[in-house]
Amino acid sequence: MTTTDAPKTPARPEPASPVSTAPMTERIRRHITEDNVCVLTFDRPDSAANIFDRDTLEELSQHLDVIAASPNLKGLVLASAKPSIFIAGADLGSFSKATRPEDLSDLIELGQTLFNRLSALSIPTVAAIHGACVGGGYEICLACDARIASPDKATKIGLPETQLGLIPAWGGSTRLPRLIGVPKALDIILAGKTLAAKPALKCGMIDDIVPREYLVDKASQMILTRGAGLSERKRGFSQAMLSTGLAARLIAGRVEKMLYKKTRGHYPAPFKALEVVTRGISRSVEESLALERDAIVELARGDVTRNLIRIFFLQERAKKLSGVPGDDKAKVEKVKQVAVIGAGVMGAGIAQWASTRELSVILRDINHDAVANGLAGIRKLFEAGVKRYALTAVEARAGMDRIAPSATDVPLTGADIVIEAAVEKMELKKQLFARLDELAGPKTILATNTSALSISEIAAATKHPERVVGIHFFNPVHRMQLVEVIAGRQTSPEVVRRAVKFVQQIGKLPVACKDSPGFLVNRILMPYLIEAGRLFACGARIEDIDECMLDFGMPMGPLRLIDEVGLDVCNHVATDLATKFSDRMESPAVLEKMVADKLLGKKSGRGFYVHAKGAREPGVNPDIDHYHHDASCAKLSRDELQMRMVLLMLNEAARCLEEGVAAEAADVDFGMIMGTGFAPFRGGPLRFADSTGIKQLVDDMKALAGKGELRFTPCNLLQTMAGTSRAFYDK
Ligand code: NAD
Repeated sequence: MTTTDAPKTPARPEPASPVSTAPMTERIRRHITEDNVCVLTFDRPDSAANIFDRDTLEELSQHLDVIAASPNLKGLVLASAKPSIFIAGADLGSFSKATRPEDLSDLIELGQTLFNRLSALSIPTVAAIHGACVGGGYEICLACDARIASPDKATKIGLPETQLGLIPAWGGSTRLPRLIGVPKALDIILAGKTLAAKPALKCGMIDDIVPREYLVDKASQMILTRGAGLSERKRGFSQAMLSTGLAARLIAGRVEKMLYKKTRGHYPAPFKALEVVTRGISRSVEESLALERDAIVELARGDVTRNLIRIFFLQERAKKLSGVPGDDKAKVEKVKQVAVIGAGVMGAGIAQWASTRELSVILRDINHDAVANGLAGIRKLFEAGVKRYALTAVEARAGMDRIAPSATDVPLTGADIVIEAAVEKMELKKQLFARLDELAGPKTILATNTSALSISEIAAATKHPERVVGIHFFNPVHRMQLVEVIAGRQTSPEVVRRAVKFVQQIGKLPVACKDSPGFLVNRILMPYLIEAGRLFACGARIEDIDECMLDFGMPMGPLRLIDEVGLDVCNHVATDLATKFSDRMESPAVLEKMVADKLLGKKSGRGFYVHAKGAREPGVNPDIDHYHHDASCAKLSRDELQMRMVLLMLNEAARCLEEGVAAEAADVDFGMIMGTGFAPFRGGPLRFADSTGIKQLVDDMKALAGKGELRFTPCNLLQTMAGTSRAFYDK
C-alpha cells in the first residue's frame, strides 16, 4: 500500500470509545483496518512536509486519547502520506517564537509527554517510514516499539539537531542510546547525522527495510504476528555494559577531546548532547528527559544557536526566492532539457547534478577525448553517489543514460537552458556565445558559469543579450548548495526569474547578485586569500596563518584553500580582481613565482603544503621559506594575523552591500556561509561585524590604515555606520 493512496485494507468503524472522537483538523488521519490495527497517517494540508507544530502535537494528543481508550485495537502504525517526507521534525518557527525559557521548556515538555504516552501504550506500535524522518520525526519513531523504512533515496533518518545548535530533546538523546548503545548514538547525535535506510538498518536505528508500497501492510503484519512480543522490545538498556555511569564517563572524556579538536569549542551543542547522553544513560528515562529539557533551554539562549537557526531560515528563504522583486507568485515552466558546454571539472559536475535531478542533458566539448574525460568524471560521481546511498545503482545507470555527449555542434533548439562552462577566457566565451545564440531556440536561456568575467560583456556578443545570465556554481558541484545568479545589464527580469527557478528546481540555493567583478562570494573571499599570501611573503609562518583562521571558525586555512583551488587559478582570479580594485588589491608576487616553479598546490602535489599520495592530511611544505620576500610580518601574533585577514573580508562584505552587489545584509551573510563556509556560528561577516561593534572594527581598520596599509581603509558605509551607531541588523 502506498502511503499516498487510500489504504487497501478496508476501513471499518472505530471500536466504541468513551472518549469523544470529534472531527479533528486533519493533519493526521486515523483509520482502523479490518484486523483492528489503527493507522495514523500524517498529512499536513497544503504542504509537501509534515512537521510538528503545536497544533499537530495537540491533534496527536487527541488521537492518542482515542487509541488508549479503545480496548479492541491490536496495534498502532504511524505513516505519512507525503511523497518524500515522513515527518521533517519540529517546527523551528515555534522554537524561535518561544523567546522566554519557560515557553521553550513547555514546548519541549509537551512533545516529551506525548511521546511518553505513545511509548506507554499497551498495544504494539510500529513506525512505517518513507521519506525524510528527522529530528522530532525520528524521535516519535524512537517512542514506537519497532521501525521499518523504505529503501528510497528520499528516506533519510536521523537527528540533525546539533547542526542547529540544539540537541534532540523530545527523547532522542534518551532513547537512541538505549536502542543502539552509547557509542553509536553519540556518532549520530554529536555530528547531527542523517542516514539512508541501509546504514540506518546496519546500526540498528530501524529494524527492517520494506518497499514503500508494502510499508503499512508489513507494519500491520508485524503487529498481528508478533503482537506483545514487539512491545517487550521496549528494552531499557540494550547495551548493559555501557549503561554504567563509569563506562559512560570514560567515553565522555575521550569523545570530549575529539570534539574540541573538531570544533575548537565554538559549538556548544555537541558538548551538551554528550553530557546529556552519557549522564542520562545511567538514570531513569524521566530523569534523562529532564536533562534534555534543561540542556536545550540553555542552548537556545545562546548566540550560536540563534545564528545557526537563522541560517536554516535563510536557506528556506532561498528556496522561495524569485530573483525579481515583487514577483514572488509568477509561474515559471520547469526546465526539461539542459545543454552544458565544456566537460571539464565544472561542466561534468553540472551535467551530473542536472541529470540526477532527472533532466536530460547534452554535454558538449571540443573533441572526443575531452568529452570522454568528462563522462569518466561523471561516472565516478555517480559511483560515489551509489556508495553514499544517495542513489541506487539503477538510478545511477538511468542518470548516465540521460546524458547525451557530443564532440560537434548540435542544434540546441530543444534545450530550455544552455550552461557554458568552458575555460575562463573572455574572447573564447564571446565566440562561444555568438555561436550558441545561433544554435539555441528563441526561448532558450544562455547562461555562463564564469567565476568573474562580465556577464554584460559576454552578452554583448549575442543578438539577444536579454537572454544571457550568469549561473555560477561552486566547486564541487555535488556538494556546494549555493549558486550565484547574476543579471547582466540587459538580462530580462523573466530570464532572471527562470534562472532562479531553475536553480531551485535542481535543489540548489540561489543568491541573486549584480554583475560586478568577482560577483559576491569571490569578491569577498579574494582580499582574504590575497592577504594570506601577502602575510606569507612577509615572513609569517604557514601554520600560523592557517591555524588562526581555523581558530576563527573557517573550515580550512586560507593557504590550504589556495592549494586546493590551485595556485594558478587563484593567481589568475586575484590578478583579474586586482586590476579592477587596484586601490586595495594586489596579487602577491609570491603566487606568480610559485606557479612558475610548478608549485600549483594539490593538483601538482606541492604548494604551500606537500600533498603526498595516500596521506590523510598534507604537511606544510618545508622547502618554500625562500619565497618569503621580507620578515616584516614574521613577528605578528596569531591574533594580529587573524584580525588582518578578517577585517579585509568584513570591509569588502560591507562594500558589496554598499554597491548593491547583494540586495540585503542577509544575502551577503548567506552567500559567504554557504559559498565559503564562513564560520557559521558567527552568522556571516555582517552579523559578526554587528556583534563585534562597527565602531570597534572601523577603529581597528583605521589604526592599520594609519600605518600606511591603505587597503584597510574602512569603506564609506562602515564609516557612516560607525558615526551613527547603526548596525546591519535590527537587534
Ligand atoms: P576546465 O579546464 O576543467 O574545463 C574546461 C573545459 O572546457 C575543457 O574540457 C575544455 O576542453 C572545454 N572547452 C574549451 N573550449 C571549448 C569550446 N569552445 N567549446 C566547448 N568546450 C570547450 O575548467 P573548469 O574548472 O571546469 O571551469 C569552467 C568554467 O567554470 C570557467 O569559466 C571557470 O571560471 C568556471 N568556474 C570554475 C570553478 C572551479 O573551481 N574550477 C568554480 C566555479 C566556476
